[in-house]
Amino acid sequence: MPVDPSTLAVVTYPAPILRTRSTPVEGITDEVRAVALRMIELMFASDGIGLAANQVGLPWRLFVAHVPASDDPDDPRSPESDTPTATGAPTVYINPVLSDPERDLTPMEEGCLSLPEIHGEVRRPSQITITALDLQGRRFTQRGAGLLARCWQHEVDHLEGVLILDRMTPASRLRNRARVRDLEDGAQGRPS
Ligand code: ZN
Repeated sequence: MPVDPSTLAVVTYPAPILRTRSTPVEGITDEVRAVALRMIELMFASDGIGLAANQVGLPWRLFVAHVPASDDPDDPRSPESDTPTATGAPTVYINPVLSDPERDLTPMEEGCLSLPEIHGEVRRPSQITITALDLQGRRFTQRGAGLLARCWQHEVDHLEGVLILDRMTPASRLRNRARVRDLEDGAQGRPS
């Protein structure tokens, strides 16, 4: 049964699909293209910079991202090297693989469309390389830094069923504990 893209919506924690390891996209069909375009719409509607397929209920190894450029030198999106820190346009990454992370770990505050009102500090390599297929099935490889590298790593984590809850520093985990519990209790239908 093909997916009707118009029925897709962002799912929130603790939906079990967010803990699912996604499986490779076997063929780039019209269905896959329609889903990816719908995901870009949903990402914009939610003011996000990335969205993984399991965040809309599909266990596919696919994510979309749009990391706009920034002129502010203090902004993590601003260029810190010749390595891109932004996407030129909304981009679809199918069956993505990350490689060659920088050895340094940089802290940055992250949020997630599936974890409303939760923000925590996550330490990740500051640069990384991604290889993926585009919507025409062409393989591309790109090196990213700054917020772009951060976004790729966050989204590939989603494809593995990993959330920022698993990666944030102990202090951030503590700070968000009550909110996480609210989300978990809400899902069980208990009064808050
Ligand atoms: Zn997320």
